[in-house]
Amino acid sequence: MIELIQADITTLEVDAIVNAANNSLLGGGGVDGAIHRAAGPELLEACRPLGGCNTGDAKITPGFKLPAKYVIHTVGPVYHGGDAEAALLASCYRRSFEVALENGVKSIAFPAISTGVYGYPKDEAARIAMGVMREFEGLFERVVACLHSEGDLLLYRKVLEGS
Ligand code: ADP
Repeated sequence: MIELIQADITTLEVDAIVNAANNSLLGGGGVDGAIHRAAGPELLEACRPLGGCNTGDAKITPGFKLPAKYVIHTVGPVYHGGDAEAALLASCYRRSFEVALENGVKSIAFPAISTGVYGYPKDEAARIAMGVMREFEGLFERVVACLHSEGDLLLYRKVLEGS
């Protein structure tokens, strides 16, 4: 079962939350900024030696002051309207799930990757997210799509019901 919730992802008590980071992994705005603020400065120190992350890939750190044990940092594509971007966005979800499995994660929560400053259309991003979550949900105790706004929650609900 994929759970849809409206929340600040930094408050969730799950094994891992996924961060919509940028290629540097050295912090940014949006959900990335919120995660770094809530986790504390040790998170930045843990990210530094990782040497950044390619778009579509994912890397893991501890969660430090977060209730979540781990943060899985993934880098979504900046939207320009191409097919390559859909594959890269799907890859963010897939790689995050794979890294989670490698680290014994049983419960995982995702934000709506790339749908903020990276500009991915929300309905298309939701379809891609739900598609990959369906592939992996059986391997986890909890798979959560954490939406920041009520509008996003309603959109995801519609996409999930139609999938
Ligand atoms: P990107 O650069 O990948 O677009 P953003 O952080 O700008 O990343 O936005 C990604 C999504 O995260 C947006 O839908 C935004 O509303 C949402 N978001 C922002 N802050 C939080 C938060 N604290 N918890 C959950 N989702 C958040």
